[in-house]
Amino acid sequence: MLITGGSTGIGAATALLAAQLGYAVAINYRKNKEAAQQVVATIREGGGKAIAVQADLAMPDQIQALFQTVDKEMGTLDVLVNNAALLEPQARFNALDYERLQRIFAVNVLGVFVCSQEACARMSTSKGGRGGSIINISSMAAKLGAPFEYIDYASTKGAMDTMTIGLAKEVATEGIRVNGIRPGIIQTDIHAKGGEPDRINRVKASVPMQRGGTADEVAEAILWLASDKASYVTGSIMDVSGGR
Ligand code: NAP
Repeated sequence: MLITGGSTGIGAATALLAAQLGYAVAINYRKNKEAAQQVVATIREGGGKAIAVQADLAMPDQIQALFQTVDKEMGTLDVLVNNAALLEPQARFNALDYERLQRIFAVNVLGVFVCSQEACARMSTSKGGRGGSIINISSMAAKLGAPFEYIDYASTKGAMDTMTIGLAKEVATEGIRVNGIRPGIIQTDIHAKGGEPDRINRVKASVPMQRGGTADEVAEAILWLASDKASYVTGSIMDVSGGR
């Protein structure tokens, strides 16, 4: 299983749960090497197999190198979790400058397309692969739009949801399932990156379950979609959002 952005938050929780379930896990990170190495060390201490691979998903050549490293060190790729995403500080629509839009679409949309192309090339039964599963970590922001906060980020997740539906149909006869998850408000460091570390407390009253979720709760849904228990599920996008 390759998890992009697996050094922290939902990606790290997914890596730890995947290792417990017997997956050999490759986690990608951009800059937080220490956190990535900590996840790898925890998995290895538990007897599992894991590697950490640095790559900036805004750079297609680095994505290619990432997949080549996974080929060499881990063998056949069965699951890709497109988890990494860029979120920039909260701003109104007219303050989203062009460079910021380019940065966020490069990682959250183009990076996800290139990673998925690399995965499909390896998994497709029509190319000699043994099939596989791609799971796109979207966001409830795709439905809610994130006004006054980050319409750019929300829009990248809308693009991701559309890709999930289209790609699932395109590769359904090639042994590849493609699904998405829309987390709601989850306790990770991403809110600090958006400029409001305490965001969950401000918005939790708008969640029917009246609380933020945990990274572990999202990881459980990801591992179910990855598994054979979800063998007839493709093109689905599951909300893991406490009813929001
Ligand atoms: P997080 O802890 O900030 O994780 C984001 C990860 O993405 C980090 O590991 C980061 O690595 C990586 N990343 C960012 N830019 C990258 C790039 N250019 N190349 C490679 N990796 C890059 O946040 P999280 O909450 O766990 O987010 C995981 C996913 O859940 C994201 O797709 C996010 O949109 C989604 N989500 C989260 C929430 C929430 O409330 N937490 C809600 C809805 C959706 P570095 O730190 O090394 O840069």
